[in-house]
Amino acid sequence: MLIVQKYGGTSVGSIERIRNVARRALATQRQGHDVVVIASAMSGETNRLLGLAKQITEIPDERELDVIASTGEQVSVGLLALAIHAEGGKAISLLGHQVRVLTDSAFARARIKAIDAQAITEALAEKKIAVVAGFQGVDEDGNITTLGRGGSDTSGVAVAAALKADVCEIYTDVDGVYTADPNVVPTARKVDRISYEEMLELASLGAKVLQIRSVEFGMKFGVPIHVRSSFNDNEGTWVVPEEKAMESVVVSGVTATKDEAKITMHGISDQAGIQAMVLRPLAAAGIVVDVIVQAYVQNGRTNFTFTLPAADLARAKDLLVKNCGHLCSPEEIMAESSLSKVSVVGVGMRSHAGVALKMFEILAKENIAVQLIATSEIKISCVIEAKYAELAVRALHDGFGLDKA
Ligand code: ADP
Ligand code: ASP
Ligand code: MG
Repeated sequence: MLIVQKYGGTSVGSIERIRNVARRALATQRQGHDVVVIASAMSGETNRLLGLAKQITEIPDERELDVIASTGEQVSVGLLALAIHAEGGKAISLLGHQVRVLTDSAFARARIKAIDAQAITEALAEKKIAVVAGFQGVDEDGNITTLGRGGSDTSGVAVAAALKADVCEIYTDVDGVYTADPNVVPTARKVDRISYEEMLELASLGAKVLQIRSVEFGMKFGVPIHVRSSFNDNEGTWVVPEEKAMESVVVSGVTATKDEAKITMHGISDQAGIQAMVLRPLAAAGIVVDVIVQAYVQNGRTNFTFTLPAADLARAKDLLVKNCGHLCSPEEIMAESSLSKVSVVGVGMRSHAGVALKMFEILAKENIAVQLIATSEIKISCVIEAKYAELAVRALHDGFGLDKA
């Protein structure tokens, strides 16, 4: 088999752990498989590098930021190749531009456009373990790019897709995908199998165990993803196409995002096109809005509310005051931060009634007020005050019976 193994920051967080990864990769190779390793930066390293840049300027140029942030992975792959040599194996490190992980030029959040597998297949033909730097790529003009926080997951799955690998193993610091973040909910249980769709929702709604784009790649190219721990040999979680049995589980996971904010424009005139007028200046500034709610028109006036990342709140409010004065006065633009979005996810929701009701009852029992609600076929999200997020996740987790097998 051709096996791609992606190791996260904690798994390569010290020299001893790097040696452990080298031994794992070699053991897999000795079973007769071709092995490609994708490595993240050592834990804490990417934050440290970004922190250095911030000491020079609050708003660093993103091209230069990627030049800096990408070095964490360069160190990891060099050390890992050395560790494999030291264990008597053959290995070669490859950076994003050496493989040629071609991306667009959206620095700090680049998207992979194509991967040239040749350098890797040449290494494999020489019985070497190819050790590829995660998180980084190169654009058409030769600039170094990075794929956004947690992007090594995407490097791993994308390389697996390009090589038509049999599996992409994601090695991390937990045993797999759990019914909720095991570091927040002590009663969370490991899930044996989860559908790509559910994993996509969980990843986009706050479960950082996989970067959302890695799941998109897996789904698009049919790469089986096996999330497991680098500290033991336990079977982890398989992310796979939906199976019939999955429908009987109404809620398969609970998750929450942090650092959400909300803007409400009160009493804006209810004419055709106002939504576009409000969101146009924000989109032009690259601000991503999320939950959008508009209801209740009275005397030709309505309220328009949406959420956005807290980090963009001040900028967004400024833009609205400048560009939307004809829709409502500045005093009627209310901004609020310290919010969280808690979500329950499950393909079983499609065929079961009363899931939203149950969610609201559980939150009500904890006295948690719901500010906004958004749903899709397989998820229900509620925006609440951030200070109640962990309480809400725990209450929903146990309320939906996820603590029981
Ligand atoms: P790595 O450095 O290996 O990429 P991450 O820190 O990015 O690891 O992701 C693993 C972490 O994801 C876990 O330590 C856990 O706290 C968090 N997490 C959040 N939600 C979940 C979940 N549903 N299942 C498992 N882990 C989760
Ligand atoms: N080192 C990068 C980060 O911390 C990429 C990753 O770990 O996946 O975001
Ligand atoms: Mg990660």
